[in-house]
Amino acid sequence: MIGLAPPLASGRSRFNRAWQDAGAPISLAAMTRIQLALGATALFVSTTAFAQAVDPRLAAARDDALANDTVAWDITEGLTTEVGPRQGGTEAEARGRAWALAKLTALGFANVREESFMMPTWVRGDETAEIVSPFPQKMAVTALGGSSSTGAKGLEAEIVYFPTYADLEAAPVGSLKGKIAFISHSMIRTQDGSSYGFAGPARWTGPNLAATKGAAGIVIKSIGTDRHRNPHTGGTGFQPGVKPIPSGALSIPDAENLERMLKRGRPVRMKLVLTPRDIGQQRSGNVIGEVLGSDPQAGIVLIACHLDSWDLATGATDDASGCGIVAAAAKRLMAMGTPRRTVRVLWAGAEEVGIHGGRAYAEAHKTDRHVVAMESDFGADRVWRVDFNLGSTAVADRIASAVRPLGVTRGQRLAGGGADIGPIIAAQSLASVDLQQDGTRYFDLHHTPDDTLDKVDPVQLRQNVAAWVAALSVLANASEVLAAAPVAAE
Ligand SMILES: [Zn+2]
Repeated sequence: MIGLAPPLASGRSRFNRAWQDAGAPISLAAMTRIQLALGATALFVSTTAFAQAVDPRLAAARDDALANDTVAWDITEGLTTEVGPRQGGTEAEARGRAWALAKLTALGFANVREESFMMPTWVRGDETAEIVSPFPQKMAVTALGGSSSTGAKGLEAEIVYFPTYADLEAAPVGSLKGKIAFISHSMIRTQDGSSYGFAGPARWTGPNLAATKGAAGIVIKSIGTDRHRNPHTGGTGFQPGVKPIPSGALSIPDAENLERMLKRGRPVRMKLVLTPRDIGQQRSGNVIGEVLGSDPQAGIVLIACHLDSWDLATGATDDASGCGIVAAAAKRLMAMGTPRRTVRVLWAGAEEVGIHGGRAYAEAHKTDRHVVAMESDFGADRVWRVDFNLGSTAVADRIASAVRPLGVTRGQRLAGGGADIGPIIAAQSLASVDLQQDGTRYFDLHHTPDDTLDKVDPVQLRQNVAAWVAALSVLANASEVLAAAPVAAE
């Protein structure tokens, strides 16, 4: 879900996408920005400790969403049922775009359209892993996006164990020749998902690092927090000049079993079969709809999610629910009457496999006058904190007051936006507001076969819509100029 690094030259996209990984609640770049921002907290955090009065129309719209919204659920249910898994660049994603165009049109949005682009496409093949010796048994594995193929016969090699990413970094160049590296970096369950930033590099850049040390392949402990035999997929990347290697994720219980085998001190051999293929440039696209504002000079409020999912599941929480939340909130804003600013709903394509939609959007709309961007891409559980990157303290105060009855506390971090809006935020130095979702159980499901509709709680989903309509109503109608918070002086 989130990456904030600027758009990159296309030839480097594979490697760089690792750092902007889909699904990251807080990217490394965002963390750096947050750390920088913490030194300037006073610039963007109000000292007002008490709530302001909330516009009664806004309060009524918020409370109605909380009690009665069905649009977010209908979208989440519809996309997961009628389209299903929809990996970027595939025929399934194309069906998802057709579904999205029909849905946004039916909901009454203006200027509903698809903006297509081409992208390199990788598709999964067979995937098996088994310990050959000394304790023969099968393990649950899935290929990481961008993995190369072992060929149908597979790769059999000795495992070299790295308890942490840092241990792999310390391995001498050439020391892994002909071996399968194994990183068993563990992720911890956190409400804000911050452990993803700690554990994520094992997937994002671990395969590249192992390849530079001569490894023939790599398996990692899945980046997740569940106790099921569901490996977590996700993108990885290789630097230009580094030959991709077969790269898989073991389920967490299987990775722990492998750790126990290795602790017995005997050489452990694995046979890994991963046969993904690159199928060249394929079409993907962004789907857009708008709520037209009355004042074209006031700029555009951009709200985003991503329409694609990984192929292992129906992507109910990553990110069908995000598309449901932003569209439902915009639909409710529409019902409140013409807002001052145009609100543009972006259902981005091909996020998981490299943020292709977000980059294409930023390129196609680099001269549009956006003023603020927001994204929902961290599941379907309740919003618990709001963070701002807003120059206007008064606007931030109004939003904080409006979401407070929903149990949303005001954070002190600089809002970072999200993966799909990252490129346009970077290009235009846009303001953003983050309605942070509770990520406690998000990484149980993230990029696994378990990311299905039954995990979505309709009550929490409605709370999201309520928080979004409150924030959106303030931003779309504010008389103030909307701009990012001033950058802290050195
Ligand atoms: Zn996502």
